[in-house]
Amino acid sequence: RAADAIRTALDRVHAHEHAVSLRRELEAQREQLIFAEKLATLGQMAAGLVHELNNPLTAIVAYTDFLIKRSLARGEESHYPDETERLRRIAESANRMQRFTRDLVTYARPSGDAPQPVVVSSIVDQALSFCEHLLEETNVAVSREFGDGVLPVRGMPEQLAQVFVNLVTNACHAMPKGGRLIVRTEIDEAEAHVKITVEDNGHGVPQENLTRLFVPFFTTKSEGHGTGLGLAIVKNIIEAHDGNITVQSDASFGTRFLIVLPVAQGPLSQRISRT
Ligand code: ADP
Repeated sequence: RAADAIRTALDRVHAHEHAVSLRRELEAQREQLIFAEKLATLGQMAAGLVHELNNPLTAIVAYTDFLIKRSLARGEESHYPDETERLRRIAESANRMQRFTRDLVTYARPSGDAPQPVVVSSIVDQALSFCEHLLEETNVAVSREFGDGVLPVRGMPEQLAQVFVNLVTNACHAMPKGGRLIVRTEIDEAEAHVKITVEDNGHGVPQENLTRLFVPFFTTKSEGHGTGLGLAIVKNIIEAHDGNITVQSDASFGTRFLIVLPVAQGPLSQRISRT
C-alpha cells in the first residue's frame, strides 16, 4: 500500500511538473504572438508613414534638383557657391529620409511578389546594374563567377534583387578607395541547394561585431549614412526563402557572405548553363 501511495504521489508530481512546463510554454508562445502582432502593427505604421512622407519628399528632391540645375545653368555657382551647396545638402538629406523610410517598410513588410523559379545569375546581374553608379564611384571591379549547371531557385525576384543590392552596397562602402568584388554561384546537387558567395576585399568586420551584423539597427556607419537595416532585411528575405546566410570576415581577405537557397522543384529541363 505504501508503494502504491508513493507511486501515486510521484505520478502527481510528474503531472504537476508537466502542467508547469506546459504553462511556461504557453506563456512563451503568448509572448511571441504579442511580439509578432507588434511587428505587424509596426509594419502597418511604417507603411502609412512612408506613404505620408513620400510625396513631400519627392517634391523636395525634385524642386531642389531643379534649383541646382538652374543655378548651374545661370552660372550662379561661382557667385553664390554657398547657396548651391545648401541646395545640395537639402537634396541629400531628403534622399536619405526617403532611403530610410523605404528600408523600414521593406524590413517590416517585405513585398509580396509570387514565388517562381528564379535564375540567380540574372538577379545578380540586375542588382549589379542597379549599383553601377556606386561601383564606378568607388572604383570597385566585379568578378562574376557563375557556375555551370546552376538550377533556378524558388523565389521572389524583387526581394532577391534587394538582397544583392544591399550586399553590393555594403561591399562598396567597405572599399571606398576601390577593390574587388566576387559574386560566385555554385550548385550542390546532392543537397539540392544553390550556394552564392559575395566576397569583397574591403576593411572587413571586427570579430566582436560579426554576430551583430544581422541585428536590426546595428550600424557602424556615421549618422545619416547607415540605417542598420540592410542586413536585417537580407536575412529576413533569405529565411523567407527557406535559405540561410552566414558571414566570415578577417582583415586578411575582407568579408564573405555565404547564402544557401533551395533549388526550385521541377524538371531538369530547367537546368541553366552559364559560364
Ligand atoms: P548599414 O549599411 O545601414 O550600416 P547593414 O545592416 O547593411 O546596415 O550593415 C550593418 C553593418 O555591418 C554596417 O554598418 C557595417 O559595419 C557592417 N558591414 C556590412 N557589410 C559589410 C562588408 N561587406 N564589409 C565590412 N563591414 C560590413
